Amino acid sequence: MTTYWAAQAWLPDGLASDVRLTESCGRFVDVTPGRSPEPGDHRLPGVVLPGFANAHSHAFHRALRGRTHADGGTFWTWREQMYALAATLTPDAYLDLARATYAEMVLAGVTAVGEFHYLHHAPGGVPYDDPNVMAEALRTAARDAGLRITLLDTAYLTGGIDAPLQGAQLRFGDADADAWAARVAAIRPDETLTVGAAIHSVRAVPLDDLPRIAAHASGRPLHVHLSEQRLENAQALATFGVTPTRVLVDAGALGPATTAVHAVHLTEEDIATLGSTRTGVCLCPSTEQDLGDGLAPGAALSAAGARLSVGSDQHVRTDLLAEAASVELHERIAGETRGVLTPADLVAALTTGGHSSLGDRTGGRLAAGAPADLVAIRMDTPRTAGADPAQLVLVAGSADVDTVVTDGVVRVEGGRHVLGDVGAMLGTAIRAAWEEAR
Ligand SMILES: [Zn+2]
Repeated sequence: MTTYWAAQAWLPDGLASDVRLTESCGRFVDVTPGRSPEPGDHRLPGVVLPGFANAHSHAFHRALRGRTHADGGTFWTWREQMYALAATLTPDAYLDLARATYAEMVLAGVTAVGEFHYLHHAPGGVPYDDPNVMAEALRTAARDAGLRITLLDTAYLTGGIDAPLQGAQLRFGDADADAWAARVAAIRPDETLTVGAAIHSVRAVPLDDLPRIAAHASGRPLHVHLSEQRLENAQALATFGVTPTRVLVDAGALGPATTAVHAVHLTEEDIATLGSTRTGVCLCPSTEQDLGDGLAPGAALSAAGARLSVGSDQHVRTDLLAEAASVELHERIAGETRGVLTPADLVAALTTGGHSSLGDRTGGRLAAGAPADLVAIRMDTPRTAGADPAQLVLVAGSADVDTVVTDGVVRVEGGRHVLGDVGAMLGTAIRAAWEEAR
């Protein structure tokens, strides 16, 4: 049992002062404001927030950061570079890269990640002896780095609408929806891994298989890339006569357990559908900036009833505070006004919204019964000094994170990960990954 004390902490009702937080066996058992610190309390600096959820990650994309900007291009040319990397990664290289990628996330305050996992098989699509060896690498990576993982094992069955898988995509595919389901059924959940499901997109799963995958996922988190690019909408309209959102709702794939990722190019009807079905929406602003996707209608989706979360997706930057702030900043650019979403809305997307999306309805709260996750953010750095703590989410970034606790265990203290030099880990893992790709 450990008791932490914070001068200020973000409780379910908002910021509170002089908060003692006691954990036992990885869960908070008591959180009380208005208490003085006692001898033996672990005193935390700055402002304490609940642990962040990174609701959308492709761990291996971290190796692309800072390497795709020379030749311009589009989402589709970026994808070719991602395929070149995906073509050769071995399970060992995948583990090293994911461990370092997740350690960087923990440094940024992430205590749970949703891994949208589609790099399943050996080159050419040949199953490994253990057909889930790549998923097992992610399990180990998350445990080593000190965060929980929701493995969103992804059905990726076609290379485009009515097109066969080819090249690197062969590694992503299973023979059909039943083969995907049988493989996923063999992944065992444990205290740090939740098994969820994903539909890569309406481009990569045949229409007839969508209801099967939705049924298999029933009750578990189900994620899907939705309308990130205009071309996806154009192809869906040309082939099915309806938008990707309509395709998914007709297949029974939307609802409170589902999270639509990106949701950029939506009609008014799509927004109403996502809201009325209480589908979650995960926004990934740094990716949407980097790939020129466009501005998602986050505030309109929230107003319609969709629960927002955020993700760092391809990890062009790993700063979930900045992702949350960007949701509001995108609204300001799109609508030429300020304060569309409040700081509390943004903290909710970063915490409760994200953990719910990953299947944990108790996570993301500093409250008795919740996982004992917390993030202490310094208020005396060059970025945060002088700011109103209640508006911290709009100014602080990952460099201001001092302490991170996941499941009652200190993973980061004084801005350093217990694993050591995460920059060195990343450099070594990324060099090795590109050595293989050469
Ligand atoms: Zn993605």
